[in-house]
Amino acid sequence: MGKQEILESSVITRRNFIKAVSASVILTPLLGFGIDVLGEEHGTFCTAINCIDGRVQEPVYDYMKNTCNVSYVDMITAPGPDGIISRGDTMCQYIKSAVLISVEKHASKTVAIVGHHDCKGNPVSKEGHWRDIRDSVNKIQSWSLPVNVIGLWVNENWKVELVS
Ligand SMILES: [Zn+2]
Repeated sequence: MGKQEILESSVITRRNFIKAVSASVILTPLLGFGIDVLGEEHGTFCTAINCIDGRVQEPVYDYMKNTCNVSYVDMITAPGPDGIISRGDTMCQYIKSAVLISVEKHASKTVAIVGHHDCKGNPVSKEGHWRDIRDSVNKIQSWSLPVNVIGLWVNENWKVELVS
C-alpha cells in the first residue's frame, strides 16, 4: 500500500467516523422518541395465572381480553395454580415474579387466578377448587399490588365463571 493510499483510507475512516457520530447524535433522540411510541403501540395488558392445561388457554384468554377490555393477556402458567398459591408452594415465588413483570412492565391492572374442571395439577372437587381460588385471591391481594384480583372457574363446558 502506497503512502497516498494509506492517507486516503485514513481520510475515509475519519469521514465514516464523523458520519457515524453525526448519525448517533441525530438518531439518539429519535430512538428515545421511538421507545415512547413503541410503549404506546405495545397496547394494554391484564394478567392470568392459569393452569398449563391446553383446554383452558383460549377460554381464559378470551374472557380476560373481553372483560378487562385490553389488547393482550399475559399468561402465567403452572399445573393447578389455585392449589399452588393456596398451599403456598415454592412455585409461588416464580408466579409472583412473573406477575410483578406483568404489573410493573406492562401496567396490568387486573390479575386473575384460575381453577378448572378436571385439573390434573390440582385434583380436588369443584368445592375444593372454589375454596382454593378464594384463598388464592386473598393471598395475591396480600402482595399489595396496585391491581384488582379476581378468581375464575372454568367449568365442565369450558366456560369461564367469576368466583370472586
Ligand atoms: Zn389444570
